[in-house]
Amino acid sequence: MTAHRPTPLPVGFVTHPSFLDHASPGHPERPDRLAAILAHLDATGLSARMRPLAARDATDAELLAVHSPALLATVAHAPDEGGWIDADTYVNAHSPEIARRAAGATLAALEAVLAGDVGSAFAAVRPPGHHATDNAAMGFCLYNHVAIAAAAALRAGVPRVAILDWDVHHGNGTQAIFDADPRVFYASTHAYPFYPGTGHFRERGTGAAVGTKLNVPLPAGSGDEAFEEAYRRFILPALTAFEPDLMLISSGWDAHARDPLAPLNVTTAGYTRVARAALTAARSLCDGRVVVALEGGYDTHALAWCAGALCALMLGEEPAPDPEPARPPPGPDVQALFAAIAHAFA
Ligand SMILES: [Zn+2]
Repeated sequence: MTAHRPTPLPVGFVTHPSFLDHASPGHPERPDRLAAILAHLDATGLSARMRPLAARDATDAELLAVHSPALLATVAHAPDEGGWIDADTYVNAHSPEIARRAAGATLAALEAVLAGDVGSAFAAVRPPGHHATDNAAMGFCLYNHVAIAAAAALRAGVPRVAILDWDVHHGNGTQAIFDADPRVFYASTHAYPFYPGTGHFRERGTGAAVGTKLNVPLPAGSGDEAFEEAYRRFILPALTAFEPDLMLISSGWDAHARDPLAPLNVTTAGYTRVARAALTAARSLCDGRVVVALEGGYDTHALAWCAGALCALMLGEEPAPDPEPARPPPGPDVQALFAAIAHAFA
């Protein structure tokens, strides 16, 4: 006798060729980042095992749910010859359309998950989004795709949305947009002190939302052990207590030891163990409803192998190990810091 098991829902995948057209010569936030992920997912057959979802353009109303009209105007008026919104953040002639489509691709992933067409979905988008605040594009980010998706989920009637952000930089934009909203849990591991300067563990949300924001700042060189302990000891228990109905992941892979911009020394294996723990938590907390959006990460090998491992886990497959594993030196002792964080969270 064969026990009846429900067929698992497909895993959605959304990207768009135009995401490769946002470019500025010599800038680390470059088309190669996404191209490396797409090539790896194709070469390993992972993309063929996911369900393709069509990207669409986010509407003004969807963008304005989290951003000011002034920010939309700033992004829309990118000069044809290209230009800079701040010292880090470029636009070219294609950027206004691409930023809108990257937000819309993330919304398409969300809609497929909420409709039950797919169980979870990966939005392979550029540029990244989590630094964009209500009224400022910054830190390579134009629109905040994950915040736009979270706001859309709330409008669609999802009661409680959890956002995990394992990019090496604090997602200041996402946190600020939902700082006073108790329906949105936001947890971040990030290098600290580091760009953009926010993300102290005392930042816990405001008003009725105090306790729904959770930051685990990590010193340079922290590595897998501290990264994984941050999730095991702080983030996953708080996520469980929050009882989310949906999980969004701001998936930057720039905490990787190979990353040229950042100092955290996480390996592909460490990222994979945290991804496995997050997806396992999502399965028990919110029927596995997860939307992953690409954020930062500036080493193409790390991006390809971390994205491949995450997609394999979403598909219920065992990830292939990174063939060139990073072997960073042991990190600093974080136990005094973690004791202070535990005290602050108590
Ligand atoms: Zn980053």
